[in-house]
Amino acid sequence: MAVSTDTPNSCDALVIGAGAAGLFYGARAGEAGLRVLVIDHAAKPAEKVRISGGGRCNFTNLHTAPENFISANRHFARSALARFTPTDFLAHLARHSITWHEKTLGQLFCDARSGAIIDMLLGDLRAAGGELRLNTSIRDIEKTNEGFRVVTSGGVVEAARLVIASGGLSIPKMGATGFAYDVARQFGHAVIAPRPALVPFVFEGRDKEDFASISGLACPVQARNDRAAFEEALLFTHRGLSGPAILQISSYWAEGEPVTLDLMAGLDAAAALMAFKAQHPKKSLATALESLLPARLVALLSARGDVPDMPRLADMSHGAIENLVSSLSRWTVKPSGTEGWRTAEVTAGGVDTSGLSSKTMESRLVPGLYFIGECVDVTGWLGGYNFQWAWASAYAAARA
Ligand SMILES: Cc1cc2nc3c(=O)[nH]c(=O)nc-3n(C[C@H](O)[C@H](O)[C@H](O)COP(=O)(O)OP(=O)(O)OC[C@H]3O[C@@H](n4cnc5c(N)ncnc54)[C@H](O)[C@@H]3O)c2cc1C
Repeated sequence: MAVSTDTPNSCDALVIGAGAAGLFYGARAGEAGLRVLVIDHAAKPAEKVRISGGGRCNFTNLHTAPENFISANRHFARSALARFTPTDFLAHLARHSITWHEKTLGQLFCDARSGAIIDMLLGDLRAAGGELRLNTSIRDIEKTNEGFRVVTSGGVVEAARLVIASGGLSIPKMGATGFAYDVARQFGHAVIAPRPALVPFVFEGRDKEDFASISGLACPVQARNDRAAFEEALLFTHRGLSGPAILQISSYWAEGEPVTLDLMAGLDAAAALMAFKAQHPKKSLATALESLLPARLVALLSARGDVPDMPRLADMSHGAIENLVSSLSRWTVKPSGTEGWRTAEVTAGGVDTSGLSSKTMESRLVPGLYFIGECVDVTGWLGGYNFQWAWASAYAAARA
């Protein structure tokens, strides 16, 4: 496409990125009277909304609190989250007659497909007079006295405000780029090294073979390290470990570190095994453990030597049973890495919040420049928190 530089378009707010944050911002800013243009290089808007939550978009979490977010400044998200809450988002859904349900742990999902949320975002943008241009890439950004001059593949746009909502690096095949980080650096902002988060672990050698041998098996665990602990499901995969407990702890994991899995989480396992022993003293430890854990996992633990050769319960003292339970509560694994950007649900790190206003998301260095959504160094836990951050940060910027 030819670049026309002679007749610049102008608008009050130019938004780069038509994802959750960019579209939500566009509608709110339009409602406040700004002329908004949203640009995206992709052919379709909000593709991550479409695939999120298994196609039903886990759009928020009832228990949203600043503690559910990771950031170099753990207080940064507080203000925006307080000024746009899950209840506020539910009011938007109600106006569009979008019904929803709670699955677990405060996670709210659409009853219909996540396309309902995309339709709402696009409908709101249209109703507020905003324009959306897809298949349009950005070639250059320059600060001017009046605002910004942005050269796009569809011509030059002049805007008083420039809102960067182009997300993080996860899932490059869906169009993720480091664009926001490049813009941040261009204007003197620091970027906290982006890393894949909410991502499965991979293993090498014996661990990889072992976990692959029971791939598809799931069980409840507590996954923990020195910084966090999550009690949710673990899933064995062909490449290693996944499931909500692993995705959550992966956001707190650094290369080379071990992760501790409590396979007895939520169970009074020693009491259960002692009761089993009292009733069935001639049965084996394996049979007793199978009342607490999936049989294939018990067999694997035995084959790996992670539990002792399976004696008769009658031959195990109370102390031996307690030791066994204690070691299964501290089953330690050492991932060789993660599945990386290919499958990471989110990007941890990003535009350093020390350069941004926590009230408006505006740059402290360049007036009129805003960063919202996933590109900012605010990363939510699994369970609707990342969309809540997208809505709340967009709302904060639109109110500016
Ligand atoms: C598989 C999956 C499932 C998920 N499920 C959930 C869930 O259920 N609940 C939840 O809270 N979170 C979920 N997330 C995370 C959530 O999707 C993101 O945190 C959220 O979409 C971030 O919104 P955003 O608007 O900041 O960025 P994005 O949604 O990533 O939007 C960024 C937009 O910018 C565009 N863009 C990128 N680079 C450029 C460029 N150089 N030029 C122009 N445009 C550009 C992209 O095409 C994209 O449209 C999931 C993520 C994945 C990958």
